[in-house]
Amino acid sequence: MTRDAPPAVVDAKAAQRALAALRAAVGAQWVFDTANPELDNYRDAYRLADDQAQRPLAAVLPANLKQIQQTLAIARRYKLALWPISTGRNLGYGGAAPLNGGAVMLDLQRMKRVLEVNEQHAYAVVEAGVSYLALHSHLKKIGSQLWLDPTASGWGGPLANFLERGVGYTPYGQHSDTQCGMQLLLADGTVVETASGHAKTRCLYRYGQRAWVDGLFNQANFGIVTRIGVHLMPAPAGYRPYLITLRSDEALHACIEALRPLCLAGVLQARTTLMSLPRAAAYGTTRAAWQSAAGPLRGEALAKLMAALELGQWNLYGALYGAEPVLNSRWRVIENAVRAIPGAGFHFAATRDQDAAFKCRAALLGGTPSMDEYHTLDWVGAGAHLDFSAVLPFAGDSALAACHTARNLCHAHGFDYSAEFQLEARSLRHEVRIVFERDVATRQRAAHSLHAALAAHSVRDGHGSPRAHLAFMDDTAMSYSWHDHTLRRAHQALKDVLDPHGVIAPGKSGLWPGRYVQRKKS
Ligand code: ADP
Repeated sequence: MTRDAPPAVVDAKAAQRALAALRAAVGAQWVFDTANPELDNYRDAYRLADDQAQRPLAAVLPANLKQIQQTLAIARRYKLALWPISTGRNLGYGGAAPLNGGAVMLDLQRMKRVLEVNEQHAYAVVEAGVSYLALHSHLKKIGSQLWLDPTASGWGGPLANFLERGVGYTPYGQHSDTQCGMQLLLADGTVVETASGHAKTRCLYRYGQRAWVDGLFNQANFGIVTRIGVHLMPAPAGYRPYLITLRSDEALHACIEALRPLCLAGVLQARTTLMSLPRAAAYGTTRAAWQSAAGPLRGEALAKLMAALELGQWNLYGALYGAEPVLNSRWRVIENAVRAIPGAGFHFAATRDQDAAFKCRAALLGGTPSMDEYHTLDWVGAGAHLDFSAVLPFAGDSALAACHTARNLCHAHGFDYSAEFQLEARSLRHEVRIVFERDVATRQRAAHSLHAALAAHSVRDGHGSPRAHLAFMDDTAMSYSWHDHTLRRAHQALKDVLDPHGVIAPGKSGLWPGRYVQRKKS
């Protein structure tokens, strides 16, 4: 639970009246109350503590805009807290649970139409409940030549992933850059179309007149987004995934320095990822196979693992796209940049057909959703994960310092350093994946405390975190404190204007409606 998140309580009688009104609006079978076992789906499967205080009052599953408008009207009337979800996964960041106990889940999974696929201009328009897996099979079914850009788990979807500033791995991997046009509802029920709003161009050009507002709905609680346009990648003439193995942290440093100019120049087309050994190994093996003693893998076990799986201490997964001569010439540039690093190894699909990590990453880099990411949780048996990420400058020194700090903290808390650096043009996203034994209280606490330590060190070192787990939303928001929190106050002012009754996702990203701020103080 985030620091003193006030529960979204309405008194019991009012709650019953609100539920009756919701049933009348969307149909009784689409409102799950506490007597309905379906409500158990709205818990975090990877919870960090006992979650009784975080249980929702109910879930409501509208089928269309009108039903969402009715739901909003009921929420305003009874002062409900609505917690919108789309594909409802959000694993590693709090799952399908609300932040506040007593909230009403607004689950958009029934709104799952692929409204348009435009082959000529390479885009799709999807509703909130469309998953990557569903969009991928739709594209296959209609014989489309377009690729989507899936995240590591295919059951999430393009709309919520964009809203959470999620990423994928193909050249279209930065999802904030590929969204174009959206439809949303404000708290008063007004429907807004961003971009031009004109049917012919709304998914071609993201700007209309006046301020561009789409970004306001990222990681925020200013509205409920019901559909988005998403640019898709025309299938390239060829595709070649590759792996570069690096034997040491020094090699990591050298590789990052060597790749910076290539990333700036756009030579590395994919969203390329450098994975630590325990992170990459976990796709195909378990921790217990390499060390019987408790705690993180130590030197000897790590060395054996590295040799047996032919991995490096660091492993760079990327891909080339285009016709054969283009692939060859791009590869020459990359190889020339890193070949001088002692011990660097170069690998392609032909020699990695038994390598679970390579197969999963190659699928994602090739625009195919995969669920193999979840095998990495078996590293500790029945595992769960909690993710912490921070954005660093694209520099070897920054990466090495962050790696040393995080590795020490992971080891001190009894975890392997399972991490990756995602390469952007100018920055590195350092993502530490804390894999812990599911529902084991001591490990939940250790994971929580490791995350808190990683966040504190990251703030100390001047690195912001780009996405927050429900339990850390307030703390993350407080860390963006420049000039006595002026940005926070600007967001707060917008919240109070756009949602004066404070019904949409109170506390999302540390943004609390006025009436909750009072309750938090008292
Ligand atoms: P995914 O299944 O892709 O992980 P979720 O559907 O679980 O994504 O949504 C993740 C988070 O994004 C939610 O907890 C919520 O804060 C926000 N969110 C999801 N869908 C919407 C929406 N349609 N409108 C506004 N916010 C949303």
